[in-house]
Amino acid sequence: MSKIMTMGEILVEIMATQIGQSFRQAGTLVGPYPSGAPAIFLDQVAKLGFPCGIIGCVGADDFGWVNVDRLKLDGADTSTITMLKNATTGSAFVTYKESGDRDFVFNIVNSASGQLSPAMVDENVLKGCTHFHVMGSSLFSAQIIEAMIKAIQIVKAQGGTISFDPNIRKEMLAIPEMREALGKILALTDLFLPSGDEVTLLVGAASEKEAVAELLRRGIQEIVVKHGAKGATFYDATQQIDVPAILVEEIDPTGAGDCFGATFVTCRKMGKTPAEAMRYAVASGAKAVLKKGPMEGTATFAELDAFLKDAAR
Ligand code: ATP
Ligand code: MG
Repeated sequence: MSKIMTMGEILVEIMATQIGQSFRQAGTLVGPYPSGAPAIFLDQVAKLGFPCGIIGCVGADDFGWVNVDRLKLDGADTSTITMLKNATTGSAFVTYKESGDRDFVFNIVNSASGQLSPAMVDENVLKGCTHFHVMGSSLFSAQIIEAMIKAIQIVKAQGGTISFDPNIRKEMLAIPEMREALGKILALTDLFLPSGDEVTLLVGAASEKEAVAELLRRGIQEIVVKHGAKGATFYDATQQIDVPAILVEEIDPTGAGDCFGATFVTCRKMGKTPAEAMRYAVASGAKAVLKKGPMEGTATFAELDAFLKDAAR
């Protein structure tokens, strides 16, 4: 039996309905949509039919239930989500600019997700976990960093593997503890899934090629660099595979990287080749941007197969 697990923020997302809308005045919003990078990742793994779960916290409120219900419906194990009576589920309010950029008003640090702690992580909670995925965006407090490293060490001791998507902004690296934590996690990573210049940022290299060479030298087995609408590149010690993105009209970019990563990891854990895993991951990323809402674009293998068939026409 295999099981993929992750840990971190579980949120709702509430979105502006008009491009260029501002939160400095009243406007029409849509939501709550289930969200949070690790939760999106989890939902995509679940849709592919692979056993999976998440260590996370929500409040005992409807924003918590909208997440738990969706994840359960899609097939994830939600038994390791703690519903806290004295906390509120996290949220993200989003506006979209003309340029395609997004602006967020977050309530995460002071939400239920901010109460995740090392005490919630042990062998029992991680029982049967053969692969653990780390989202850099989840590492927003010293307590969570400690919990994450504890989880990684337990899964490694069980003989499991680790994937890591830094999912980070440059400003976060200005915090010295953050850089140290990311370095520590990188040293325990088997499969690294950076996007764009994250690959050079963490190793201090000048180019993607140099960074990849350094990471492989350090013992990371597989690296996939995501390049948004330009596609993605796979690297290991023996090969490089460039895969272009599938051309689609982007409706909402949120969740593309999380779905891509979830599909790549699941395919590899199912024994598919890197080339086959990349084919499905690129389809999963494209499908994610086609739907408004972070978790609304997750897809089953049947849906990915149909989408790939359509794209090949
Ligand atoms: P996120 O913004 O969710 O953090 P990310 O930056 O980690 O995402 P991206 O590179 O934006 O990851 O997206 C992951 C993959 O999804 C890309 O490599 C690509 O294959 C696919 N993808 C993303 N955007 C598009 C798009 N506009 N059209 C087609 N495919 C896309
Ligand atoms: Mg992106």
